[in-house]
Amino acid sequence: MTLANGLTYLAIPGPSVMPARVLQAMHRAAPNIYAGELIEMMPELITGLKYVARTKHNAAIYIVNGHGTWEAALANTINPGETVLVPATGRFAHGWAEMANRLGIKVELIDFGKRDTNDLAAIEARLRADDAGKFKAVLAVHTDTSTGIRNDIAALRRTIDATGHSALLMADCMASLGCDRFEMDDWGVDVMVAGSQKGLMTPPGMGFVFFNDKADAAREAISRVSHYWDWRPRANPAMFYEYFAGTAPTHHLYGLREALKMIKEETIEAVWVRHATLAEAIWAAFDHWGSDGPLEVNAVDPAIRSHSVTALRVGSDKASALRDWCETKAGLTLGIGLGMAEPGAPEWHNFFRLGHMGHVNAQMILGALATIEAGLIAVDIPHASGGVVKAAKVIAEKA
Ligand SMILES: *Cc1c(COP(=O)(O)O)cnc(C)c1O
Repeated sequence: MTLANGLTYLAIPGPSVMPARVLQAMHRAAPNIYAGELIEMMPELITGLKYVARTKHNAAIYIVNGHGTWEAALANTINPGETVLVPATGRFAHGWAEMANRLGIKVELIDFGKRDTNDLAAIEARLRADDAGKFKAVLAVHTDTSTGIRNDIAALRRTIDATGHSALLMADCMASLGCDRFEMDDWGVDVMVAGSQKGLMTPPGMGFVFFNDKADAAREAISRVSHYWDWRPRANPAMFYEYFAGTAPTHHLYGLREALKMIKEETIEAVWVRHATLAEAIWAAFDHWGSDGPLEVNAVDPAIRSHSVTALRVGSDKASALRDWCETKAGLTLGIGLGMAEPGAPEWHNFFRLGHMGHVNAQMILGALATIEAGLIAVDIPHASGGVVKAAKVIAEKA
C-alpha cells in the first residue's frame, strides 16, 4: 500500500517547494507588456531582489536557468583567452569552469575534493604567484548543492585582498540566496549569480546577475558583448523591454514579486535564522542515526555545512531504495546523489540529498525526518534509532 496521497514535499533540492501565494500570484490572464501594472511593479521588484542580495549596486534579470547566469556573468567581464581561477568543492564549480572553458576562457581549477571547503591558503599561494595578474576573476560557489559544502565567501575576499590581487570575486549563490546569510556588499563580492527556483521559491526560468561598479568597469574592456547578454540595458533600462531584451517573463515576475514580498514580511535575517535552525535539527537527526552505522552527513564539520541542502552518504547501495520508499510510500521526494559517483556505477546508489531551501518550516522538516527514519527501518539501513527526537529537541529549544 501507499501513504503518499496528501500534501507532498519535493526536497530534491531545486526546484524547491512553491508557496501557494506564489502559485496564486501567477494564476492570471496574460498581462499587457506595454503599459500598466507589470511595468509599474518593476522598480519594487528590483529593490526586493537587492534586499535579498544585500547590495546597493546593480541587478540584471535574464530569462535563463542557473547555467545561463554563469554565461551572463562571464560574457560581461572576461574576454576569450583571459584566465579565471576556480576553487572547486563539488559539481557546480566544475560546471561554471566548463562554461568558461567553452567560452574560450582559460581556467585554472583547484579541486578541493567533495568533503572540504575551499583551502584559502592554497588560493592565496596561487594568487601570490600570479605576478603578471593573469587571473581576471575567482569564480567561487557559496553553497555547492552536490556536496552540501558551504564556502566562506567573506574569508575568500579577505584572502584575495591580502594578496593585493585585482581579480574580481564572483559568487554562485544559486542554492544559498534567500537561505544562508549572504552579504554581497559587506563581503566585497563583485558579481553574484542566482536563480529563481531555489531559495526564491519561484519556478525555474529566471536568472539574476548582481554586479558592482568594479565589475561594470571590467565590462568596458570586453571586446564583444552580445546585445542579449549585455547587463547594462537590463540593469538600467530606458524602456521596459530592455529589462529582458524582449518579451518579459510575465508570470514568473508575478510569482517572484510575491516570493520577495514573503521574504520581506519575514525579514531576510529571520529567513537566515529559520534555515540555520532547521538545518541544525536535520544534522542532529542524521548525526544521531549515523552514530551507530555507516550513514553520515557528507560535510563532517558543521561549520562548513550548507543551511539549505544536506548531502548524505549511506555506506551501501541502499540510498536509491530509501528515496524510492520515501517517495512512493510517504510523499517525500529526496534528491539523488549528484557528482558523487558516475551514473551507472554501483556506488551511484550510495548517496542522496535532502533539500531544505525556501518555503520550509519546522513541521515539514520534522515530517521529512520522521519519514526518513521510517524509510531507514523499511529498507533496512543500519542506524541508531531516535534521530527524530534529537531534531525535535533542537526545534523545542530554539523555536
Ligand atoms: C542549481 C544550481 C546551479 C544550476 O542551476 P540550473 O538552473 O540547473 O542551471 C548552479 N549552481 C548551483 C550552486 C546550483 O545549486
